[in-house]
Amino acid sequence: MTDTKVYLLDGGSLVLDGFHIWWNKGPGGEVRFPVYSVLVEHAEGNFLIDTGYDYDHVMKVLPFEKPQQTEQQTIPGALKLLGMEPKDIGVVFNSHFHFDHVGGNKFFPHAKKICHKAEIEQSAKPEPFEVLGYSDMTFSAEAAEARGMSEQLADGQTAANTSYEHVEGDVELAKGVKLVFTPGHAIGHYSLYVELANRRPMLFTLDAAYTRKSYDNLINAGFHIDPIAGVESMKKLKKIEEETGAEVLFSHDAESFANYQTGVNAYS
Ligand SMILES: [Zn+2]
Repeated sequence: MTDTKVYLLDGGSLVLDGFHIWWNKGPGGEVRFPVYSVLVEHAEGNFLIDTGYDYDHVMKVLPFEKPQQTEQQTIPGALKLLGMEPKDIGVVFNSHFHFDHVGGNKFFPHAKKICHKAEIEQSAKPEPFEVLGYSDMTFSAEAAEARGMSEQLADGQTAANTSYEHVEGDVELAKGVKLVFTPGHAIGHYSLYVELANRRPMLFTLDAAYTRKSYDNLINAGFHIDPIAGVESMKKLKKIEEETGAEVLFSHDAESFANYQTGVNAYS
């Protein structure tokens, strides 16, 4: 049995105003931040957590987020760097269905897909302030249809090959790979905890905390459904960090990301 490996798939970058990244705190002004997905190579299979954003979608619907993405930063491009193809991924798990976490789902019609039980329904009937977050509906034919956005679907995407297995609460995705329920940013949001053989565990906040500053000061992002739940979720992650000595990694923090290992450099 080989040791578990974690790869960070660099998905390019986007821009938001500082007041959206650090809600009601700022400072304002344009901030460019990274987007990435997490590949867990495990004895039980290859698990992909989130799939980044689709460049064309962002240019069409949210061009003000100024996407920068090279060929190697698309999901197929990032996998190719590792000598892999989409078909090598057995399970796709989405932390939540915001556009910058689902853009590459369309490349995995064959994979088993998993999400929190409330996320599909929410994305199909978002609150008014969630509409842009849930704007790329290509992850689910069913939800796209409910939104009247079926024209977004890629060739071959059907309700059958975009259906999800639902989870709730904290769950183990594979041995030593845990999904930590952290609602607030989205109704069914998850963070990710991975145990590795040769280093301390990794705790990916995903969008429960965009940046180190968000986490240290319990600052939600401007995009959320329940800011109080969001603060509680950050406290929950801090408790896990304290108990396990895990390294905490943030979803959208340019400064932290510069020190993360990406491309072929795995954590193991
Ligand atoms: Zn999000």
